[in-house]
Amino acid sequence: MQTSGLLCVLLIWTRLSSSLPSGNGSESGGDTTPLLLVSFDGFRADYLKHYTFPNLEKFFSSGLLVHELTNVFTTKTFPNHYSLVTGLYAESHGILASMMYDPATKKNFSIQNDSDPFWWNRAKPIWVSVEEAGYRAASAMWPGSDVNIQNHTLEYSFRYNSRVSFSERLGNLTQWMTENRAVKFAALYWEEPDRSGHLYGPENTKEMRRVLSEVDDLVGLLMEQLNTTGLWGKINVIITSDHGMTQCSEDRLIVLDKCVSPDSYRLVDLTPVAAIIPLKDNVTVYTNLSGCHSHMKVYLKDTLPDRLHYKNNERTQPIILVADEGWTIVKHGSLPRLGDHGYDNTLPSMHPFLAAHGPAFRPGYTMLSLNSVDLYPLMCHLIGIPPMPNNGSFARVRCVLAHEQCSELALAVGAVIGVLIILTTFTCLFRLMKNRDVSSARPFARLELDEDDDDEPLLE
Ligand SMILES: [Zn+2]
Repeated sequence: MQTSGLLCVLLIWTRLSSSLPSGNGSESGGDTTPLLLVSFDGFRADYLKHYTFPNLEKFFSSGLLVHELTNVFTTKTFPNHYSLVTGLYAESHGILASMMYDPATKKNFSIQNDSDPFWWNRAKPIWVSVEEAGYRAASAMWPGSDVNIQNHTLEYSFRYNSRVSFSERLGNLTQWMTENRAVKFAALYWEEPDRSGHLYGPENTKEMRRVLSEVDDLVGLLMEQLNTTGLWGKINVIITSDHGMTQCSEDRLIVLDKCVSPDSYRLVDLTPVAAIIPLKDNVTVYTNLSGCHSHMKVYLKDTLPDRLHYKNNERTQPIILVADEGWTIVKHGSLPRLGDHGYDNTLPSMHPFLAAHGPAFRPGYTMLSLNSVDLYPLMCHLIGIPPMPNNGSFARVRCVLAHEQCSELALAVGAVIGVLIILTTFTCLFRLMKNRDVSSARPFARLELDEDDDDEPLLE
């Protein structure tokens, strides 16, 4: 009994210590290796399967590749870029779409009119937390990073200008990352392949091959620049995107004017997710829209599925229309774009990918999928700052880190130890009970009878 008890304690201790993170865990302040976060807008996950990316493959071959990121609804640029840096769903951070209206203040938001802190203040992006922790942060065109958010303006940032080249954006960041009081977090945004995806449609393989080759060249430029500045291999680099892209067609139009009177509602946002405010007769507007088209779902705000994480915000309008994949909602007229995104975030075509390289990442590690909100707690861990409350989970991403014990061997050993613990615990308990009951009223006569025999029948 004493030997078994000792074995029990030893095994339980072994199991507990093997389940703990072996590195510096998720505590803050331990690791200040700089982090560079790069977004190539509209980089659909399966482009990786259909086109060649010699530079990108070189980048993740010794690092991490996540084939698909499940991003947030709406699968638009601003909501998803803000989710990546806050770990929040759109209903929580408040950047719900490219076009918004706030009924209380009567303010309007668009991607051309985005600098009012009012829209952004509900969340604290990672660059603000980094600077509040005493480090410096920088951004080149990341959506929202040129806005004063929660009374914090990022000194190292640009006002958005699409004419500034990738090379210039990157050059500024690497300079800031190699200065005396170096930047610990930098974010870099690039408009392609989104721009070409909209213009040509993702099924135009000739044009997409051309632009994706250019994007791959930019990844090559990035690695070269990091090499030249001595940062390659020393900093952690994440390359990802906000959403994918799908093909649209003139044959897949949903024309609102055919269903509902144009002066009976206000249109806040149009396609593929339309935000509608009925002006007079709410029931008629809703009824007319509900029967409008078999490829358009119509929701009253409260009936939006919970999984979209979209209804709990006052900027979510009373009626939301969601087009099926590849369908375009118009008031009237023709198809505005050959490619689009913004659709349901369960659609694979809406998903981007993620790749990473640097000392923190497990070399050659691949994952099939990850939630984009999980990136935020991972980045906070990498920089060594405490995360703000968020919808992500560090536990779901910790295995991408080199210092975490998540290898298949470790898992197999853990499983064997677990089985041993269970068997030993049972053995301990039985022996304990037997010893206690030797001088008792013998309620377990069978136990006494079988005392010298194998205990096996008791396990039946
Ligand atoms: Zn985008």
